[in-house]
Amino acid sequence: MTLDELRSRFDAADLGRRMHACVADLYPLCRSITGDGVRETLTRLGAHLPLARHEVPTGTPVFDWTVPNEWNVRDAWVKNAAGDRVVDFGSCNLHVLNYSAPVRARMTLAELRPHLHTLPEQPDLIPYRTSYYQERWGFCLSQRALEALPEGEYEVCVDSTLAPGHLSYGECLLPGRTTDEVLLSCHVCHPSLANDNLAGVTVAAFLGELLGALSLRYSYRFLFIPGTIGSITWLARNESAVGRIRAGLVLACLGDPGAPTYKKSRRGDTAIDRTVAHVLRSRGGEGRIREFSPYGYDERQYCSPGFDLPVGCLTRTPHGEYAEYHTSADDLALVRPEALADSLALALAIVHALEADVTYVNLNPKCEPQLGRRGLYRALGGLREAGVDEMAMLWVLNQSDGRRGVLEIAERSGYPFEVIERTAGMLVEHGLLAETP
Ligand code: ZN
Repeated sequence: MTLDELRSRFDAADLGRRMHACVADLYPLCRSITGDGVRETLTRLGAHLPLARHEVPTGTPVFDWTVPNEWNVRDAWVKNAAGDRVVDFGSCNLHVLNYSAPVRARMTLAELRPHLHTLPEQPDLIPYRTSYYQERWGFCLSQRALEALPEGEYEVCVDSTLAPGHLSYGECLLPGRTTDEVLLSCHVCHPSLANDNLAGVTVAAFLGELLGALSLRYSYRFLFIPGTIGSITWLARNESAVGRIRAGLVLACLGDPGAPTYKKSRRGDTAIDRTVAHVLRSRGGEGRIREFSPYGYDERQYCSPGFDLPVGCLTRTPHGEYAEYHTSADDLALVRPEALADSLALALAIVHALEADVTYVNLNPKCEPQLGRRGLYRALGGLREAGVDEMAMLWVLNQSDGRRGVLEIAERSGYPFEVIERTAGMLVEHGLLAETP
């Protein structure tokens, strides 16, 4: 099957349902930047694409950082004087401060309070909080639950281990006809949060599954890594290989109903920046383009000045800009099957534009060729529905000097990428154009 066939057979309803089921399957797992929740997540994603799991020992230096102790949690609770669990990890894994040190103690409410995190502005929601690099213990709960706690003695327990182990990440390389690579990276370190980032994880896994069945020009490298420390670790271990990366996307927050948003790479004018901008424009709709900023997800590491890779970030509503972000309301209802399927279709359109951005040379470059004599007007008849017209032909013939690729001609002419591609194909068939090697 070709990429075009795959895209024409794209069943958004079926894929959306299956993708949402994938998010729901991964949602209960308690992930963090290390530990068994990440391992189990990678194991389950292995059903979609051939994922190699890498285990990097605690203490490994990675640039200015060090792989931390591994964290695993079995249970966590706060019990009132009657012995009832008033905060219970079993009901929601956001209740434990992610990376919380173990604790078992009795204390008054006043002593407990500094360890309790709430969102006074969103009093019904449980916040998602972490403490990776500063050892402390704590719980997260709704402001209303906190206000309902009477004075008195409480018993607290975080049954966790924070000890030397490993940082786990998943990697899959789908080899193409060339060793030039497209990098697709997503973070797998959040516990029960659906949009940030099981949506991104699921889009990446399904994209890998679909691309795995095709013969493609580029090689595609998928990374399922813990945020920040994962990309730093991967870059430290693969520094010699990053020169092969021609384009890349960090995939996150791809399941909410908001419009797609693309954040440019640090360079801002690389192939991926121009490709995504063009694809979003030619889809119509409300796609948004943002300039680079040194914040956000792992593009911060890929775009650090020592690497400066052509990697942007694709989301729907960006992190921090939706009310449910990093709270218990980032749940399975926020993530919509149709948004997941639309994100996957968008990713496929971007892959298609990267793959098909080849360069042609006009074989009759001195003045315009006589189109009528070559039967090209008749050939146009069947292509008019696809938007191909004489003007598109003139653009392709004029711009095909062996240097300007399909994307650049699409940008200059205002025609969608696919129209320029089909027009060029027709001109090749009529002996007026040849693909440059
Ligand atoms: Zn996050």
